[in-house]
Amino acid sequence: MNSLTLCDASEMESGKARLLRGDSMPEGDTIYRAARALQKAIGGKVVTGFETGLAKLARVNDDAPLVGRVVERVESRGKWLLIFFSGDLILVTHMLMSGSWHLYRTGERWRMGRARMRVVIRTADWEAVAFNVPITEFHTARSLARSSQVPMLGLDILAEEFTVEGGVARLDAYAKENSETEIAVVLLNQRVLAGLGNVYKSEVAFAAGVNPFRAMRTITRQEMEKMVEVAQRYMKANVADGVSTVKRGERIVTYSGNRRTTHAMDREERLWVYGRQGQECRRCGATVMMRKQGVQARSTYWCPECQPWVGIGEAPVGRVSLVRRGKIGS
Ligand SMILES: [Zn+2]
Repeated sequence: MNSLTLCDASEMESGKARLLRGDSMPEGDTIYRAARALQKAIGGKVVTGFETGLAKLARVNDDAPLVGRVVERVESRGKWLLIFFSGDLILVTHMLMSGSWHLYRTGERWRMGRARMRVVIRTADWEAVAFNVPITEFHTARSLARSSQVPMLGLDILAEEFTVEGGVARLDAYAKENSETEIAVVLLNQRVLAGLGNVYKSEVAFAAGVNPFRAMRTITRQEMEKMVEVAQRYMKANVADGVSTVKRGERIVTYSGNRRTTHAMDREERLWVYGRQGQECRRCGATVMMRKQGVQARSTYWCPECQPWVGIGEAPVGRVSLVRRGKIGS
């Protein structure tokens, strides 16, 4: 197979990677890898063709054509993917639940229907195709800086300059202004730390022994350090997994499939708590719980024994209804 599927939410839903079904917003590491693969293929190359099914983008292309510009760099900011072209033009996309970027060798048959194509960027050797990407915008450096949507990101966990100390400072500063906000909600807030998605949110809280419903004011500095350290380690490990499998023109990569935090090889063994409600905690044997959390009602998984409650009132309780084994992550 000659194509790379960089981030394919539909594949998660349809088959192999059912692990994330129903909650399948790509994580920051997924977008990071997509950006890196795109950078490797089309970075520094001259655009030889541009197509779009979106009137808004087509208009910009009519006024200031993409063809002839150089792809200066491809970069991820949390869950946003940015393609910088020479002459101060930036294509900004967000995959949300449905979108994906594919890379094809020139002339190769697409694996998705043309009707779903939103953007095609061609260079001499490659076609980068965005399918079903719900948010796509052109920006200049200036309009990007002013955009309230595209993060003026929090610290990007995968950035080279990221340090545990810097991440902790960020959490600490946020806690001072938002002392009652629950920690797992903060872990998902891309303006605090950029990159963590819903899966890692639960995994990181578990690894640090922190109950995800605790208010920020109850979180100690040591716990912050542990969470930031683990977050960085998990994200880096998953990115590294991706590298070894991304070989140009060799195989399809679905980045959803190989996320892993437990160091076990079997895919069902990969995650500590995410998607495991009603099953035994891998560490202590207690029953893993799930509860919807925050205004967005994202699923949060935790072990009530390994992640004890600290705070006012009763410990939060979640659903523990047994999930048929094999249904999740198989
Ligand atoms: Zn436990």
